Amino acid sequence: MPSVLRVALPVPLPTLFDYLPPAAGEAQAGSRVLVPFGRGKAVGVVVETDVESTLGGARLKRVLRLLDEAPLLDAELMKTLAWAADYWLGAPGEAYANALPLALREDKPLPDTHEEVWALTVAGRSALDAGSRKGGSRRLLETLAAAPLGAGELHERLPDWRAAARRLATAGLIERVRRAADTAPQPAVAPPALSPEQQAAVEAVSAELGRFQPFLLDGVTGSGKTEVYLALIEQVIAQGKQALLLVPEIGLAPQTVRRVRERLGVPVEVLHSNLAEGDRARAWLRARDGEARVILGTRSAVFTPLPRAGLIVVDEEHDGAYKQQEGFRYHARDLALLRGRALGVPVLLGSATPSLESLANVDAGRYRALHLRARPGAIRPPQVQIVDMRAQRLEHGLSPTLLSAVADTIARGEQALVFRNRRGYAPVLLCHQCGWHAECPRCEHPLTLHAGRRQLICHHCDYHTRLPEHCPSCGAPDLKPQGQGTERLEEALSARFPDVPVLRIDRETTRRRDAFDELLERLRGDGPAILVGTQMLAKGHDLPNLTLVAIVGVDEGLHSVDFRASERLAQLIVQVAGRAGRASKPGRVILQTHHPEHPLLRQLLAQGYAAAAKELLAERQAVQLPPYMHQVLLRADAHQREHVDAFLREARGALEPAAQAELGIAGPMPAPMPLRAGRHRGQLLVEAGSRAVLHAALRPWARGLSALPSARRVRWSLDVDPVDLY
Ligand code: ADP
Ligand code: ZN
Ligand code: ZN
Repeated sequence: MPSVLRVALPVPLPTLFDYLPPAAGEAQAGSRVLVPFGRGKAVGVVVETDVESTLGGARLKRVLRLLDEAPLLDAELMKTLAWAADYWLGAPGEAYANALPLALREDKPLPDTHEEVWALTVAGRSALDAGSRKGGSRRLLETLAAAPLGAGELHERLPDWRAAARRLATAGLIERVRRAADTAPQPAVAPPALSPEQQAAVEAVSAELGRFQPFLLDGVTGSGKTEVYLALIEQVIAQGKQALLLVPEIGLAPQTVRRVRERLGVPVEVLHSNLAEGDRARAWLRARDGEARVILGTRSAVFTPLPRAGLIVVDEEHDGAYKQQEGFRYHARDLALLRGRALGVPVLLGSATPSLESLANVDAGRYRALHLRARPGAIRPPQVQIVDMRAQRLEHGLSPTLLSAVADTIARGEQALVFRNRRGYAPVLLCHQCGWHAECPRCEHPLTLHAGRRQLICHHCDYHTRLPEHCPSCGAPDLKPQGQGTERLEEALSARFPDVPVLRIDRETTRRRDAFDELLERLRGDGPAILVGTQMLAKGHDLPNLTLVAIVGVDEGLHSVDFRASERLAQLIVQVAGRAGRASKPGRVILQTHHPEHPLLRQLLAQGYAAAAKELLAERQAVQLPPYMHQVLLRADAHQREHVDAFLREARGALEPAAQAELGIAGPMPAPMPLRAGRHRGQLLVEAGSRAVLHAALRPWARGLSALPSARRVRWSLDVDPVDLY
C-alpha cells in the first residue's frame, strides 16, 4: 500500500481524499495543496501525512503542487476543526474551508500582511489647498491630509468614505500605499476605576489565565461588562498574549470599535462580513503571525489562528447570530469553548440575558458565574408597565397610554423608541368584500405590504409583486392592510407628532452599508425624536437621551410552536427595555399586549430575567427539551413532496435497530413551514439524553446519508443542536 496524504477538500461530502505526495516539497498537516479533482483542480488542506491508503495505487492521483512549506493552519486549529467537523456532523472539507478566509482558499501566493492605507497624492494635496472639492470628497481629503488611514479607521470616521475614495482615486488625488511599520496606534485612554463587582469579576478570570475555564458574566446592559473585558484584555496584552473578542454583527458598530481601539493602544484587527476579502486574509495572517494582539470580530472570526492565545471573550453569548445556518452549521460560542479548551485559556461569555444552555452549564458546575448587579451610573432600573390592549381604543395599533407617554417624553425634550419586530407597512392585505388575502404563491404565507415601494413582499423567499388596485378575486376596491409593521407605525407617529423627527430603523431603511450608523449618529444629539424599529435596535448603541421604550406586538412570541420562542421573547424584551434611561435619566418601559396575565410576562416584569429563565429551564427539564435533551435535525426539501418523504423514510430506516432503540425519533414530518420558495420541506428529529449516545449512533449514519438512492432527489442538511426548527 502506498503512503499517501489525506486531504480535506471544500465539498459537501463526508470524506477526506487520498493523494500521492507532491513531486517536490514535504507536505505537512495544515499545509494547503493543489490537487486534481473531478475534471478540474481544487485547493485542499492536508489533514494527515504518511497514511496507508485503502485505495489501490493505480487509482491514486498525485498532488499537483504544495502551496505552503510551513503549515498555514497550526496544530491546535487542525485538532479543533477535526473535533468541530465530528461534533456538528459536517463535511470535514467544509469545516476546514470555513476556517480559511476566501482569499486563502485559492491557488495564489499569500498576500503581503502589511496593511494598506489611503494617502493623498501630490495632486491631492494641491486639490485640497485649492479647495476644488466639496462635500464627502473634501472631508476625505481633509481626513487623509492629517494622516494616512486604513479602511477600518476610515470606516469609523467617515462612514460614507468609500464612494468618495473611488472618485478621488480615479482622479489620481489619493492612492493606496503600504502602512509604514512604525505607525503607532492611537494612545490609550485611561480606564475608569472599576466597581467592586467588576473588580471581582476581573480577578476571578485573571486567576485562571493560562488554563481552560469557562465563565458566564451575567450583567444587565450598561452594567459595565465591556469594561471587564477590556481590563482582562489589557492584562493579556501585558503578558505578550493575544485576545479574541467575538460580538454579534450588530455589536461591531464603529462606536464599539473606536472604544476598544482607544482603550487598548495596540493594533486591533476587526473582522466582519463587510470586509474586503484581501483585508480579511491579511488580518487573519497577522493573527497567525502573532502580530495582531487583539482580534475583534463576528461569528467566523472564531476561526482566527491564535498562536499566543491568552483569552477568548464572547459578548452577547445568547445571540442567535452565532449559529451558522447553512453549510457547516457550527455555533461560534460553542466552538469558542472548544478552542479555549484546546488552547488552554479561559473563555468568558457575557450577556444581560444568558442563554438557557449557558445557565444550565452554570447549574451543572461546568461554567463559573460572575455577576454585575449594579449599573455604574447608579441609575434605577427602568420602570416597566404592562398596557392591556383589550380594553383600549387603538390608533394604528397604538394605545392612548402609549401615545401619551410618547407625547410626555418628547415634551421633555427626550427620545422615545417604539419597538415592533416586523418590517413593512402591514403583515396582511385583506379584501373586505370576499375575504381574499394576498399570499405568496411559493410559500403559501401572507405577503407583507410595503406601502412606500407599492409592493407585496414575501419575507420568507423575497417573492414580490406589485400592489393590486382591486381584489384579484372579486374585483372590489376594498383592500385593507391588517396589522402594523414599522413602516405603518412610522407613518402614524409622524402624523401624530409632526414637529419631531421620526426615524425608522429596520432592514429596509438601513440597506445601505452605513445607513444604520448614520441614523444612530443623528440620534446621539440631544433633541427630541421618535425611533421606530425592529430588533436591529435591541442592543449596541448607547443613546443617552432615550428615556421611553414602548414594545408593541410581541404577542406572537407567546404562542409560537417553537419551544425556544419564550426564551427568545424574554431576551428580546429585556434587551430592548435595557435601552431606556441608560445615562443619567431614569427610563420607562411600556409593554403593550393582549395577554397581560401571561405568566412569562408577569414573571419577567415582577422578578426579572434571571427568575424567568429559571422557570423556563425548569419547564424544559420537566418535558425533556434542550438543554436537558440533545437534538439533531435532518432537514430535506425538494420540488415534490414525495421525494422529501421518501428520503426521510429511507434515512430513518437506515438507523441501526440498536440505535433506534436508544434514540427518540420524530418524523418524517413536514417542517413548521412546509412550503418555502416553491420547495416542499420536511424533517426528522433525532434526540437522546446523552450526547455520547447520540453521536455514537449518528456518526456512521450521517456518513451514509449521501449514498442513499433517495438522497439524489432532495437537498438535505444535518443540524446538530438546531436553534430553530424551521
Ligand atoms: P455593558 O457592556 O455591560 O453594556 P459598558 O461596559 O459598556 O456596559 O458600560 C456602560 C457605561 O458605563 C459605559 O459608558 C462605560 O464607560 C461606563 N462604565 C462602565 N464601568 C464603569 C466604571 N467602573 N466607572 C465609570 N464608568 C463605567
Ligand atoms: Zn375580494
Ligand atoms: Zn415566499
